[in-house]
Amino acid sequence: MTVTPASFIKGAASLAAGMGVTIKSFFQPVVTSQYPREVLEITPRFRGHIKLLASPENPLENMCIACGICVRNCPSGSIKKVDGEKREGEKRKRATVYMLDFTTCSQCGICVESCPSKALGFSGDFNIAGFKRADFYFDLVKEFDKRKKAS
Ligand code: SF4
Ligand code: SF4
Repeated sequence: MTVTPASFIKGAASLAAGMGVTIKSFFQPVVTSQYPREVLEITPRFRGHIKLLASPENPLENMCIACGICVRNCPSGSIKKVDGEKREGEKRKRATVYMLDFTTCSQCGICVESCPSKALGFSGDFNIAGFKRADFYFDLVKEFDKRKKAS
């Protein structure tokens, strides 16, 4: 291929245009983050997996009364088991087990809306990862207790 003066000028102009775009971007505001070193604040409307919410009277207790309404209402059958026990002196049961299969959950929110105790919300957990299906099958009571211990 022979380089003519015209093709050389065209190539140099194209290179200068490309460099112009690159140099201009050095002076633009940064729009990306250095994840995972820098973690952005998640918007409150983000829907991660469902989580049990704490009682306003006792933040160490979750508000689930193990009524089973969410189990019956979940269109995906993702809430596999909810169980609870009635402690001495308490009028209602407290959840002791709440098994969620997050692999089938569509984050539709029906369980959150239909819970009579307002015991459910969405977590801001956006980066859960695992190698096997079982990693996304978890007990929300244990997850709640872990969160409370960490806070
Ligand atoms: S989360 Fe709500 S609807 Fe589901 S079992 Fe608990 S109290 Fe009932
Ligand atoms: S968000 Fe929807 S799919 Fe997920 S557990 Fe609740 S009702 Fe089921």
